[in-house]
Amino acid sequence: MAQTMKAAVLKAPHVIEVEDVPVPTISEPTDILLRVERTALCGTDLHPYEGRLEIESDVILGHEFLGTVEAVGSAVGQIAEGDRVVSSCVVSCGACYQCRRHQPGNCAGSRIFGLGLALGDLDGGQAEYVVVPSADLTTRKIPESGSATDDDILFAGDIMTTGYEAVVRAMRPGDTVAIVGAGPVGLCAAMSAVALGAGQVIVVDRVPARLKEAETYGVVGVDAGQGNPADAVLDLTDWRGADVVVDAVGHESALLSAISLVRAGGVLSIPGVYTEDSVDIPFGELYLKGVKLEMGVSHITEYMDEVIALMSAGKLAPSTMISHRMGLSEAAEAYKLFEAREATKIILDPRS
Ligand SMILES: [Zn+2]
Ligand SMILES: [Zn+2]
Repeated sequence: MAQTMKAAVLKAPHVIEVEDVPVPTISEPTDILLRVERTALCGTDLHPYEGRLEIESDVILGHEFLGTVEAVGSAVGQIAEGDRVVSSCVVSCGACYQCRRHQPGNCAGSRIFGLGLALGDLDGGQAEYVVVPSADLTTRKIPESGSATDDDILFAGDIMTTGYEAVVRAMRPGDTVAIVGAGPVGLCAAMSAVALGAGQVIVVDRVPARLKEAETYGVVGVDAGQGNPADAVLDLTDWRGADVVVDAVGHESALLSAISLVRAGGVLSIPGVYTEDSVDIPFGELYLKGVKLEMGVSHITEYMDEVIALMSAGKLAPSTMISHRMGLSEAAEAYKLFEAREATKIILDPRS
């Protein structure tokens, strides 16, 4: 095996360089070394790229990836050399109080690939090789049969499972599910609501092209630029509002919109990321409506198996969101396109 590899390294905000760096090696007995075959850019990567999340320089980015296992640590039991696996974007310890209660998103030692020291100092997967800790917990084998493609499975480690969890923890079959935001997580939530038997699924966004993509899943698109979306949702629900509303954006304006769409006694599910200390929301309205809140960092490894099974059965196919395929060598260009919102989802091939 080669001693060096290509990797997309963040030198400073807006500066990505594809560099030759040493191939990482296993340091813990629970680690595996993965030869990356596909990796994606995620909206979260834009936080360090745009400098909103300050990280040290020379971090290898990327937390959505799959590939073939090149080496396994002595304590890895479920994964063998040569297996093809997809990784969760988050690494949890599996042993703390929250992990034992099936809440790995709240793990006391939670780490995320490619986001620097503050988030656990794990190099990311936008590289030819990556070390994956706690591999038995963090990875899943890619099914050898069934209708899922590698392009679908890639998203089981992050956006697809995040969107799925946001819906499955909140809805019952027959429910009306409204989703605010048709970005990748919103689209994954919409697909999940359809797969889980929602009575009707409504997607609210301001970008007509995104709404068009959502409508291909059999959902109703509502253009928030063409009037108050609450009017459209009330109209579609006998003036009740939606049983479940998903805020897939993570911004105060989206949260206000989501609150206006949910029915009394309904559920507001928030996979969108909030890092602000406080947000100005009509709390009295939520109280009087008796709205149940579901939110927080996704418990990816709790839901990955269900998501992969639904992909294999042909019920979830998020690969339709892929807008660009590029080589890892074009990573700097890929980040520019992604930042300019000219791409929904970009796949990088580390071999080119
Ligand atoms: Zn992500
Ligand atoms: Zn834990």
